[in-house]
Amino acid sequence: MSNSAKNVVVAHRGAWKAQGLPENSIAALKNAIALKCTGSEFDVQMTADDILVVNHDDSFNGLPIAETAYSELAVHKLSNGEKLPTLRDYIQAGLENNTSTRLVCEIKPAETKERGEKMAEKTIALVKELNAEQMTVYISFDYNILKKIEGLNSNAHTQYLNGEKSPEALKEDGIDGADYHFEVFRTHPDWIASAKKIGITLNAWTVNDPEDMDWLLDEKFDYITTNEPELLFEKIEKR
Ligand code: MG
Repeated sequence: MSNSAKNVVVAHRGAWKAQGLPENSIAALKNAIALKCTGSEFDVQMTADDILVVNHDDSFNGLPIAETAYSELAVHKLSNGEKLPTLRDYIQAGLENNTSTRLVCEIKPAETKERGEKMAEKTIALVKELNAEQMTVYISFDYNILKKIEGLNSNAHTQYLNGEKSPEALKEDGIDGADYHFEVFRTHPDWIASAKKIGITLNAWTVNDPEDMDWLLDEKFDYITTNEPELLFEKIEKR
């Protein structure tokens, strides 16, 4: 990841808000790349016919994604006219003219452990096939999904989202980062120092308030995940 932008700005579900773009759209990803965010986050679900798609909710236009074939889902468009992005399309778009913005790939928890592991396997295989390994960061609330990814490729960069594990516990399991709700770090301020000490990457979500941005910049977080990437860039430039 040596080419990645040196800033800490991760656009949450792409850089959608200021431009009025749909969250998790390819347009929002392209906007994050244009802004030169160090990362652009997106959410991965799997359809009934095992197609990985990018969408936050587990339903799309009222259809449960896990129980619906992609062809049925794709009848409905995003608000900007895009089709529901497959993960393949999304990664391919994210690799075009982009050497600076990491693809921060959130694998959503599944109904069963087996289905979660299948999503992890298919995601990591697709990332490899598309030669996106150096550009990808994997995040999940499902700890088993991250452990599965590390088992398949210990060079993969993984960050845990749920917030109840100490940096030491993550390190023990081979997980590379703590990507926690920012309030977790207010409750456990000692985790900031211990993470740095043992080489656990620090990320926080979803940081939209200017004062929270200042605090996490002061604490020298590696990444700050936000719906307001333009505002965070302004803050960084003023420092
Ligand atoms: Mg997400």
